[in-house]
Amino acid sequence: MQFYSLNHQSPKVSFKDAVIKGIAPDKGLYFPSSIRAIDNDVFTHIDSFTNEELAFEMIRQFVGEDIPDLELKKIIKDTLCFDFPLVPIEKNIFSLELFHGPTMAFKDVGGRFMARCLSYFNKENSNEVTVLVATSGDTGGAVASGFLGVKGVSVVILYPSGKVSEVQEKQLTTMGQNIRALEVDGTFDDCQAMVKEAFMDKDIIEKIQLTSANSINVARWLPQMFYFAFAYKQLKDRSKKLVFSTPSGNFGNICAGIMAQQLGLPVSHFIASTNANKVVPNFMEDGKYRPLPSVATISNAMDVGDPSNFIRIREIYGDDFDLIKKNLSSFSFSDELTKAAMEKVYHESGYVMDPHGAVGYLGLKQYMKNHQDTQGIFLETAHPVKFLEVVEPVIGKHIEFPEQIKNIMDRTKEAGFISNYQQLKDYLLTG
Ligand SMILES: *Cc1c(COP(=O)(O)O)cnc(C)c1O
Repeated sequence: MQFYSLNHQSPKVSFKDAVIKGIAPDKGLYFPSSIRAIDNDVFTHIDSFTNEELAFEMIRQFVGEDIPDLELKKIIKDTLCFDFPLVPIEKNIFSLELFHGPTMAFKDVGGRFMARCLSYFNKENSNEVTVLVATSGDTGGAVASGFLGVKGVSVVILYPSGKVSEVQEKQLTTMGQNIRALEVDGTFDDCQAMVKEAFMDKDIIEKIQLTSANSINVARWLPQMFYFAFAYKQLKDRSKKLVFSTPSGNFGNICAGIMAQQLGLPVSHFIASTNANKVVPNFMEDGKYRPLPSVATISNAMDVGDPSNFIRIREIYGDDFDLIKKNLSSFSFSDELTKAAMEKVYHESGYVMDPHGAVGYLGLKQYMKNHQDTQGIFLETAHPVKFLEVVEPVIGKHIEFPEQIKNIMDRTKEAGFISNYQQLKDYLLTG
Protein backbone atom coordinates (compact mmCIF):
# COMPACT_ATOMS: atom_id res chain seq x y z
CA MET A 1 0.00 0.00 0.00
CA GLN A 2 1.20 3.47 -0.91
CA PHE A 3 0.69 6.53 1.27
CA TYR A 4 0.47 10.06 -0.12
CA SER A 5 1.06 13.36 1.61
CA LEU A 6 -2.02 15.47 2.33
CA ASN A 7 0.02 18.49 1.17
CA HIS A 8 0.51 16.74 -2.22
CA GLN A 9 4.08 18.06 -2.72
CA SER A 10 6.04 14.94 -1.72
CA PRO A 11 6.27 11.58 -3.47
CA LYS A 12 4.16 8.61 -2.40
CA VAL A 13 5.86 6.19 -0.02
CA SER A 14 5.39 2.65 1.28
CA PHE A 15 4.03 1.83 4.74
CA LYS A 16 7.60 1.30 5.90
CA ASP A 17 8.77 4.75 4.81
CA ALA A 18 5.65 6.41 6.18
CA VAL A 19 6.38 4.85 9.58
CA ILE A 20 10.06 5.77 9.58
CA LYS A 21 9.52 9.33 8.32
CA GLY A 22 6.43 10.00 10.45
CA ILE A 23 5.55 13.07 8.42
CA ALA A 24 6.12 13.78 4.72
CA PRO A 25 8.97 16.15 3.68
CA ASP A 26 6.33 18.73 2.65
CA LYS A 27 5.02 18.54 6.27
CA GLY A 28 1.82 16.80 5.18
CA LEU A 29 0.28 13.83 6.99
CA TYR A 30 0.47 10.51 5.19
CA PHE A 31 -2.82 9.01 4.01
CA PRO A 32 -3.46 5.58 2.42
CA SER A 33 -3.95 5.73 -1.35
CA SER A 34 -6.94 3.40 -1.12
CA ILE A 35 -9.31 2.13 1.57
CA ARG A 36 -10.96 -1.16 0.67
CA ALA A 37 -13.91 -2.61 2.60
CA ILE A 38 -12.84 -5.97 3.98
CA ASP A 39 -14.57 -9.28 3.37
CA ASN A 40 -18.19 -8.98 4.46
CA ASP A 41 -17.90 -12.15 6.51
CA VAL A 42 -15.55 -10.62 9.00
CA PHE A 43 -18.08 -8.28 10.58
CA THR A 44 -21.20 -10.41 9.99
CA HIS A 45 -19.52 -13.40 11.65
CA ILE A 46 -17.50 -11.40 14.10
CA ASP A 47 -18.10 -13.95 16.86
CA SER A 48 -15.92 -16.48 15.14
CA PHE A 49 -12.90 -14.17 15.04
CA THR A 50 -10.46 -13.59 17.89
CA ASN A 51 -9.32 -10.02 18.57
CA GLU A 52 -5.98 -10.82 16.98
CA GLU A 53 -7.60 -12.21 13.84
CA LEU A 54 -9.87 -9.18 13.55
CA ALA A 55 -6.95 -6.81 13.94
CA PHE A 56 -4.99 -8.67 11.28
CA GLU A 57 -7.90 -8.51 8.80
CA MET A 58 -8.33 -4.79 9.44
CA ILE A 59 -4.74 -3.63 9.12
CA ARG A 60 -3.25 -6.02 6.58
CA GLN A 61 -4.12 -3.93 3.50
CA PHE A 62 -2.36 -0.87 4.93
CA VAL A 63 0.84 -2.69 5.83
CA GLY A 64 0.94 -4.40 2.45
CA GLU A 65 4.13 -6.24 1.55
CA ASP A 66 6.29 -4.38 4.00
CA ILE A 67 5.80 -6.83 6.85
CA PRO A 68 5.23 -10.55 6.07
CA ASP A 69 1.89 -11.91 7.35
CA LEU A 70 3.48 -14.13 9.98
CA GLU A 71 5.56 -11.29 11.35
CA LEU A 72 2.54 -8.95 11.33
CA LYS A 73 0.53 -11.51 13.30
CA LYS A 74 3.31 -11.67 15.85
CA ILE A 75 3.40 -7.88 16.17
CA ILE A 76 -0.39 -7.83 16.68
CA LYS A 77 -0.22 -10.57 19.30
CA ASP A 78 2.45 -8.67 21.26
CA THR A 79 0.48 -5.44 20.92
CA LEU A 80 -2.88 -6.77 22.13
CA CYS A 81 -1.77 -8.43 25.35
CA PHE A 82 -4.66 -7.06 27.46
CA ASP A 83 -8.48 -6.75 27.53
CA PHE A 84 -10.87 -4.17 26.08
CA PRO A 85 -14.06 -4.74 28.09
CA LEU A 86 -17.39 -3.18 27.16
CA VAL A 87 -19.19 -2.24 30.38
CA PRO A 88 -22.94 -1.42 30.50
CA ILE A 89 -23.54 1.86 32.35
CA GLU A 90 -27.15 2.81 31.66
CA LYS A 91 -29.86 1.59 29.33
CA ASN A 92 -28.31 1.55 25.83
CA ILE A 93 -25.10 3.20 27.06
CA PHE A 94 -21.78 1.40 27.36
CA SER A 95 -18.23 2.31 28.30
CA LEU A 96 -15.46 0.77 26.22
CA GLU A 97 -12.55 0.57 28.63
CA LEU A 98 -9.32 1.17 26.79
CA PHE A 99 -7.18 1.53 29.90
CA HIS A 100 -6.14 -2.01 30.72
CA GLY A 101 -2.73 -1.78 29.05
CA PRO A 102 0.65 -1.18 30.70
CA THR A 103 0.25 2.61 31.11
CA MET A 104 -3.54 2.51 31.56
CA ALA A 105 -4.22 4.79 28.60
CA PHE A 106 -5.63 3.93 25.21
CA LYS A 107 -2.44 5.10 23.55
CA ASP A 108 -0.78 1.84 24.60
CA VAL A 109 -2.03 -0.01 21.53
CA GLY A 110 -0.69 2.57 19.07
CA GLY A 111 2.55 2.92 21.02
CA ARG A 112 3.19 -0.82 21.17
CA PHE A 113 2.27 -1.43 17.54
CA MET A 114 4.45 1.39 16.27
CA ALA A 115 7.43 0.36 18.41
CA ARG A 116 7.30 -3.19 17.06
CA CYS A 117 6.95 -2.07 13.45
CA LEU A 118 9.89 0.29 13.82
CA SER A 119 11.98 -2.37 15.45
CA TYR A 120 11.16 -4.79 12.61
CA PHE A 121 12.10 -2.22 9.96
CA ASN A 122 15.28 -1.34 11.79
CA LYS A 123 16.53 -4.83 12.40
CA GLU A 124 19.25 -4.88 9.71
CA ASN A 125 20.07 -1.26 10.16
CA SER A 126 22.94 -0.60 12.53
CA ASN A 127 22.08 3.09 12.86
CA GLU A 128 20.03 3.82 15.91
CA VAL A 129 16.73 5.67 15.41
CA THR A 130 15.83 8.36 17.93
CA VAL A 131 12.15 8.86 18.66
CA LEU A 132 11.64 12.46 19.75
CA VAL A 133 8.23 13.19 21.18
CA ALA A 134 6.44 15.97 23.06
CA THR A 135 3.68 14.98 25.44
CA SER A 136 0.92 16.67 27.38
CA GLY A 137 0.63 13.51 29.48
CA ASP A 138 -0.39 10.15 28.11
CA THR A 139 1.51 9.97 24.82
CA GLY A 140 4.85 10.00 26.61
CA GLY A 141 3.97 7.16 28.96
CA ALA A 142 2.59 4.95 26.21
CA VAL A 143 5.58 5.62 23.98
CA ALA A 144 8.03 5.05 26.85
CA SER A 145 6.43 1.76 27.77
CA GLY A 146 5.91 0.65 24.16
CA PHE A 147 9.55 1.29 23.20
CA LEU A 148 11.17 0.15 26.43
CA GLY A 149 14.00 -2.22 25.63
CA VAL A 150 13.29 -2.16 21.87
CA LYS A 151 16.61 -2.64 20.09
CA GLY A 152 17.96 0.07 17.83
CA VAL A 153 15.58 2.72 19.15
CA SER A 154 16.31 5.45 21.64
CA VAL A 155 13.50 7.63 22.98
CA VAL A 156 13.58 11.24 24.20
CA ILE A 157 10.37 12.63 25.71
CA LEU A 158 9.70 16.30 26.39
CA TYR A 159 7.01 17.22 28.89
CA PRO A 160 5.85 20.52 30.41
CA SER A 161 7.04 20.95 33.99
CA GLY A 162 4.21 20.89 36.54
CA LYS A 163 1.52 20.28 33.91
CA VAL A 164 1.23 16.50 33.88
CA SER A 165 -0.34 14.46 36.66
CA GLU A 166 1.86 12.76 39.27
CA VAL A 167 1.16 9.31 37.89
CA GLN A 168 1.89 10.47 34.35
CA GLU A 169 5.19 12.01 35.43
CA LYS A 170 6.27 8.78 37.10
CA GLN A 171 5.44 6.87 33.93
CA LEU A 172 7.63 9.22 31.90
CA THR A 173 10.61 9.52 34.15
CA THR A 174 11.22 6.16 35.78
CA MET A 175 11.66 3.75 32.87
CA GLY A 176 15.43 3.94 32.38
CA GLN A 177 17.18 1.84 29.68
CA ASN A 178 16.61 3.43 26.25
CA ILE A 179 14.06 5.98 27.51
CA ARG A 180 15.06 9.50 28.57
CA ALA A 181 12.80 12.30 29.77
CA LEU A 182 13.32 16.04 29.59
CA GLU A 183 11.29 18.32 31.81
CA VAL A 184 10.65 21.59 30.02
CA ASP A 185 10.21 24.93 31.70
CA GLY A 186 7.16 25.85 29.58
CA THR A 187 3.84 24.62 28.20
CA PHE A 188 3.00 21.66 25.98
CA ASP A 189 2.98 24.04 23.00
CA ASP A 190 6.58 25.02 23.87
CA CYS A 191 7.59 21.34 23.96
CA GLN A 192 5.91 20.76 20.63
CA ALA A 193 7.63 23.80 19.09
CA MET A 194 11.07 22.54 20.23
CA VAL A 195 10.42 19.11 18.74
CA LYS A 196 9.38 20.69 15.44
CA GLU A 197 12.50 22.83 15.41
CA ALA A 198 14.73 19.80 16.00
CA PHE A 199 13.15 18.02 13.03
CA MET A 200 14.16 20.92 10.79
CA ASP A 201 17.62 21.50 12.26
CA LYS A 202 20.30 20.42 9.75
CA ASP A 203 22.99 20.01 12.45
CA ILE A 204 20.76 17.44 14.11
CA ILE A 205 19.25 15.55 11.19
CA GLU A 206 22.69 15.10 9.58
CA LYS A 207 23.84 13.21 12.63
CA ILE A 208 20.73 11.60 14.08
CA GLN A 209 17.93 9.61 12.43
CA LEU A 210 14.94 11.27 14.09
CA THR A 211 11.37 10.05 13.99
CA SER A 212 8.15 11.09 15.69
CA ALA A 213 5.73 8.97 17.67
CA ASN A 214 2.70 11.24 17.71
CA SER A 215 -0.64 10.10 16.33
CA ILE A 216 0.30 11.60 12.98
CA ASN A 217 2.45 8.49 12.51
CA VAL A 218 0.39 5.94 10.57
CA ALA A 219 1.62 3.09 12.77
CA ARG A 220 0.21 4.81 15.84
CA TRP A 221 -2.97 5.99 14.19
CA LEU A 222 -4.25 2.95 12.27
CA PRO A 223 -4.21 0.25 15.00
CA GLN A 224 -6.77 2.35 16.86
CA MET A 225 -9.31 1.03 14.32
CA PHE A 226 -9.29 -2.23 16.28
CA TYR A 227 -11.12 -0.82 19.33
CA PHE A 228 -14.29 -0.14 17.42
CA ALA A 229 -14.49 -3.71 16.15
CA PHE A 230 -13.67 -5.13 19.60
CA ALA A 231 -16.57 -3.10 21.01
CA TYR A 232 -19.00 -4.22 18.30
CA LYS A 233 -18.04 -7.82 18.94
CA GLN A 234 -19.10 -7.54 22.58
CA LEU A 235 -22.57 -6.07 21.93
CA LYS A 236 -25.44 -8.37 22.87
CA ASP A 237 -27.89 -6.74 20.46
CA ARG A 238 -26.33 -5.90 17.12
CA SER A 239 -29.64 -5.11 15.41
CA LYS A 240 -29.91 -1.67 16.98
CA LYS A 241 -28.14 1.31 15.38
CA LEU A 242 -24.75 1.91 16.94
CA VAL A 243 -23.06 5.25 17.65
CA PHE A 244 -19.62 5.92 19.15
CA SER A 245 -18.59 8.95 21.16
CA THR A 246 -14.84 9.53 21.34
CA PRO A 247 -13.25 12.06 23.69
CA SER A 248 -11.07 13.89 21.20
CA GLY A 249 -7.91 16.00 21.29
CA ASN A 250 -5.80 15.41 18.24
CA PHE A 251 -8.63 13.44 16.59
CA GLY A 252 -6.52 10.37 15.80
CA ASN A 253 -8.72 7.94 17.70
CA ILE A 254 -12.02 9.05 16.19
CA CYS A 255 -10.51 9.22 12.73
CA ALA A 256 -9.42 5.58 13.17
CA GLY A 257 -13.02 4.74 14.12
CA ILE A 258 -14.22 6.30 10.89
CA MET A 259 -11.63 4.22 9.03
CA ALA A 260 -13.09 1.09 10.67
CA GLN A 261 -16.50 2.16 9.37
CA GLN A 262 -15.01 2.56 5.90
CA LEU A 263 -13.78 -1.05 6.15
CA GLY A 264 -17.41 -2.10 6.67
CA LEU A 265 -17.94 -1.99 10.42
CA PRO A 266 -21.65 -1.17 10.87
CA VAL A 267 -21.57 2.15 12.76
CA SER A 268 -24.33 4.66 12.12
CA HIS A 269 -22.75 7.82 13.52
CA PHE A 270 -19.69 9.22 15.29
CA ILE A 271 -19.59 11.89 17.97
CA ALA A 272 -16.40 13.83 18.58
CA SER A 273 -16.65 15.06 22.15
CA THR A 274 -14.28 17.80 23.23
CA ASN A 275 -13.53 19.91 26.28
CA ALA A 276 -13.35 23.71 26.00
CA ASN A 277 -10.96 23.30 23.06
CA LYS A 278 -13.67 23.44 20.45
CA VAL A 279 -12.14 24.00 17.05
CA VAL A 280 -14.02 21.03 15.59
CA PRO A 281 -17.42 21.77 17.20
CA ASN A 282 -16.99 25.24 15.65
CA PHE A 283 -16.11 23.72 12.28
CA MET A 284 -19.25 21.60 12.38
CA GLU A 285 -21.32 24.80 12.59
CA ASP A 286 -20.10 26.51 9.43
CA GLY A 287 -17.49 24.33 7.70
CA LYS A 288 -14.68 26.78 8.46
CA TYR A 289 -11.55 25.51 10.21
CA ARG A 290 -10.02 28.06 12.55
CA PRO A 291 -7.22 26.87 14.91
CA LEU A 292 -7.19 28.48 18.36
CA PRO A 293 -4.60 28.64 21.14
CA SER A 294 -5.14 25.66 23.46
CA VAL A 295 -6.78 26.22 26.84
CA ALA A 296 -6.01 24.18 29.96
CA THR A 297 -8.78 21.86 31.24
CA ILE A 298 -9.17 18.90 33.61
CA SER A 299 -9.12 16.56 30.62
CA ASN A 300 -5.63 17.74 29.73
CA ALA A 301 -4.79 15.06 27.16
CA MET A 302 -7.36 16.78 24.94
CA ASP A 303 -6.08 20.34 25.31
CA VAL A 304 -5.36 20.79 21.63
CA GLY A 305 -6.03 23.97 19.69
CA ASP A 306 -5.18 22.69 16.22
CA PRO A 307 -6.04 18.99 16.05
CA SER A 308 -3.63 17.48 13.54
CA ASN A 309 -5.70 14.46 12.47
CA PHE A 310 -8.88 16.33 11.61
CA ILE A 311 -7.56 16.84 8.09
CA ARG A 312 -7.60 13.06 7.68
CA ILE A 313 -11.33 12.97 8.50
CA ARG A 314 -11.93 15.64 5.87
CA GLU A 315 -9.92 13.57 3.39
CA ILE A 316 -11.97 10.41 4.05
CA TYR A 317 -15.13 12.33 3.09
CA GLY A 318 -13.52 14.16 0.17
CA ASP A 319 -13.88 17.38 2.18
CA ASP A 320 -17.63 17.34 1.51
CA PHE A 321 -19.12 19.25 4.45
CA ASP A 322 -22.60 17.75 4.06
CA LEU A 323 -21.18 14.26 4.02
CA ILE A 324 -19.06 14.98 7.11
CA LYS A 325 -22.14 16.31 8.92
CA LYS A 326 -24.12 13.21 8.05
CA ASN A 327 -21.58 10.96 9.76
CA LEU A 328 -20.14 13.13 12.49
CA SER A 329 -21.41 15.38 15.27
CA SER A 330 -19.19 17.30 17.63
CA PHE A 331 -19.95 18.87 21.00
CA SER A 332 -17.86 20.77 23.54
CA PHE A 333 -18.25 20.57 27.34
CA SER A 334 -16.91 22.71 30.18
CA ASP A 335 -15.00 21.35 33.17
CA GLU A 336 -18.06 22.03 35.36
CA LEU A 337 -20.30 19.86 33.19
CA THR A 338 -17.61 17.19 33.07
CA LYS A 339 -17.33 17.03 36.86
CA ALA A 340 -21.10 17.01 37.23
CA ALA A 341 -21.33 14.04 34.86
CA MET A 342 -18.63 12.14 36.78
CA GLU A 343 -20.52 12.73 40.01
CA LYS A 344 -23.93 11.84 38.60
CA VAL A 345 -22.81 8.60 36.97
CA TYR A 346 -20.92 7.57 40.10
CA HIS A 347 -23.93 8.15 42.31
CA GLU A 348 -26.46 6.57 39.95
CA SER A 349 -24.54 3.54 38.76
CA GLY A 350 -21.39 3.33 40.88
CA TYR A 351 -19.21 3.71 37.80
CA VAL A 352 -16.12 5.90 38.07
CA MET A 353 -15.24 7.81 34.89
CA ASP A 354 -12.05 9.73 34.32
CA PRO A 355 -12.47 13.31 33.01
CA HIS A 356 -11.79 12.27 29.39
CA GLY A 357 -14.30 9.43 29.42
CA ALA A 358 -16.79 11.77 31.08
CA VAL A 359 -16.54 14.18 28.14
CA GLY A 360 -17.27 11.21 25.86
CA TYR A 361 -20.27 10.24 28.00
CA LEU A 362 -21.65 13.79 27.80
CA GLY A 363 -21.39 13.85 24.01
CA LEU A 364 -23.21 10.56 23.78
CA LYS A 365 -26.06 11.77 26.02
CA GLN A 366 -26.39 14.95 24.01
CA TYR A 367 -26.69 13.06 20.74
CA MET A 368 -29.02 10.36 22.06
CA LYS A 369 -31.50 12.95 23.32
CA ASN A 370 -32.65 13.31 19.72
CA HIS A 371 -31.81 9.75 18.58
CA GLN A 372 -33.50 7.43 21.01
CA ASP A 373 -33.51 4.49 18.62
CA THR A 374 -29.74 4.07 19.01
CA GLN A 375 -27.33 2.39 21.38
CA GLY A 376 -24.16 4.24 22.22
CA ILE A 377 -20.63 3.49 23.30
CA PHE A 378 -18.26 6.07 24.76
CA LEU A 379 -14.55 5.39 24.86
CA GLU A 380 -13.05 5.45 28.35
CA THR A 381 -9.53 6.45 27.33
CA ALA A 382 -7.71 6.53 30.68
CA HIS A 383 -8.02 4.88 34.08
CA PRO A 384 -9.47 7.33 36.64
CA VAL A 385 -6.44 6.76 38.88
CA LYS A 386 -4.33 8.70 36.39
CA PHE A 387 -6.36 11.79 37.23
CA LEU A 388 -6.72 11.26 40.97
CA GLU A 389 -6.31 14.96 41.72
CA VAL A 390 -9.54 15.60 39.79
CA VAL A 391 -11.52 12.41 40.35
CA GLU A 392 -11.27 11.85 44.12
CA PRO A 393 -12.72 15.20 45.24
CA VAL A 394 -15.56 14.90 42.71
CA ILE A 395 -16.75 11.45 43.71
CA GLY A 396 -15.72 11.84 47.36
CA LYS A 397 -14.03 8.48 47.50
CA HIS A 398 -10.48 7.18 47.59
CA ILE A 399 -9.34 5.25 44.52
CA GLU A 400 -6.87 2.40 44.93
CA PHE A 401 -3.81 2.27 42.71
CA PRO A 402 -3.93 -0.76 40.41
CA GLU A 403 -0.80 -2.97 40.30
CA GLN A 404 0.65 -1.38 37.14
CA ILE A 405 0.71 1.99 38.87
CA LYS A 406 1.69 0.89 42.37
CA ASN A 407 4.93 -0.48 41.01
CA ILE A 408 6.10 2.83 39.62
CA MET A 409 5.00 5.23 42.35
CA ASP A 410 7.98 4.35 44.58
CA ARG A 411 10.55 4.72 41.85
CA THR A 412 12.76 7.78 41.62
CA LYS A 413 12.18 10.35 38.94
CA GLU A 414 15.05 10.84 36.50
CA ALA A 415 14.78 13.70 34.06
CA GLY A 416 16.90 16.42 32.54
CA PHE A 417 15.66 19.98 32.77
CA ILE A 418 15.71 22.43 29.87
CA SER A 419 14.33 25.92 29.27
CA ASN A 420 15.15 26.61 25.62
CA TYR A 421 15.81 25.03 22.25
CA GLN A 422 19.61 25.37 22.40
CA GLN A 423 19.65 23.18 25.48
CA LEU A 424 17.62 20.49 23.67
CA LYS A 425 20.02 20.66 20.74
CA ASP A 426 23.08 20.29 22.96
CA TYR A 427 21.42 17.40 24.77
CA LEU A 428 20.67 15.54 21.55
CA LEU A 429 24.07 16.17 19.97
CA THR A 430 26.13 15.18 22.96
CA GLY A 431 24.01 12.07 23.56
C1 LIG B 1 -4.69 11.28 23.81
C2 LIG B 1 -5.88 11.16 24.65
C3 LIG B 1 -7.15 11.52 24.16
C4 LIG B 1 -7.36 12.14 22.79
O1 LIG B 1 -7.14 11.25 21.74
P1 LIG B 1 -6.94 11.81 20.26
O2 LIG B 1 -6.68 10.60 19.43
O3 LIG B 1 -5.74 12.72 20.32
O4 LIG B 1 -8.17 12.54 19.88
C5 LIG B 1 -8.25 11.30 24.97
N1 LIG B 1 -8.12 10.80 26.21
C6 LIG B 1 -6.92 10.45 26.72
C7 LIG B 1 -6.85 9.92 28.10
C8 LIG B 1 -5.76 10.62 25.95
O5 LIG B 1 -4.58 10.27 26.46
